Amino acid sequence: MIVLDTCAFLTQKHPEGEYATVPGIKNEIVNKQSKQYFENMLATNLKIMKAEKSSYEIVQKQAKETGDFDVLSRVDIDIIALGYQCKGTIITDDFAIQNIALALNIKFLSCSGKIISEKRIWRYRCTACGHIEKIKLKNCSVCGNEEIRRVKLK
Ligand SMILES: [Zn+2]
Repeated sequence: MIVLDTCAFLTQKHPEGEYATVPGIKNEIVNKQSKQYFENMLATNLKIMKAEKSSYEIVQKQAKETGDFDVLSRVDIDIIALGYQCKGTIITDDFAIQNIALALNIKFLSCSGKIISEKRIWRYRCTACGHIEKIKLKNCSVCGNEEIRRVKLK
């Protein structure tokens, strides 16, 4: 199964096979040509699917570990969960999606040719005291400072 993220419909670059995508993608495809492409695929070999709850739990847990959770949209999480569940190949240009795919051993390809080569670990660091968290908080839990930056650990 080939799981298509938005870029696949925008660029029309993806391998041949059986396709699946998630319900929210439709709203992300705005230009006329891509919409037409999407509709044509839907009429032939594209299925709209949603993963089961157990797959979401695994994806969300992993996203918190890599520090990608706060930059992922709902649709992004849908895509990863579906790729995980059907053991498919995800087609995406989104580095956060690629990062979690890498961490979960899900195959992925990009439309642009740009692909991350190693897993990245992100954390949230207070600019005042340097305290580090896995998820983004509004205020630093140590000193209360509001300026928190996303930093790459590795
Ligand atoms: Zn602080």
